[in-house]
Amino acid sequence: MQRPRINECTRCNGTGYIGKWKHIVNGMCFECEGENGYVRSSYKKTGRVAGNKDRFRQEIIASIASDDSVLSGRIDLLSEPEIISGMATLAEEGFDDEILADYAHQMSKR
Ligand SMILES: [Zn+2]
Repeated sequence: MQRPRINECTRCNGTGYIGKWKHIVNGMCFECEGENGYVRSSYKKTGRVAGNKDRFRQEIIASIASDDSVLSGRIDLLSEPEIISGMATLAEEGFDDEILADYAHQMSKR
């Protein structure tokens, strides 16, 4: 079935729907949540449940940039995409920043 284009979301091609996730929230796109006229942007919507690794990656980067996180100032990690990716996986599994920082510490020592 061809879905109408309702917004400018790049994740779901503007349909608000991602077929491979249909068993989760009826395939709703986590990026735009099927919002009419949504335009993908980099600003962070707070209080929204993160639904995918990309978002966790962005949150980790935001934590590094902030000054109230155990990850604050770890800009060295920004040049280690594999570590960030591993941290995003941990975050996705529900581990907090402290565990992520430990992981980053272990990984960057090698
Ligand atoms: Zn979307």
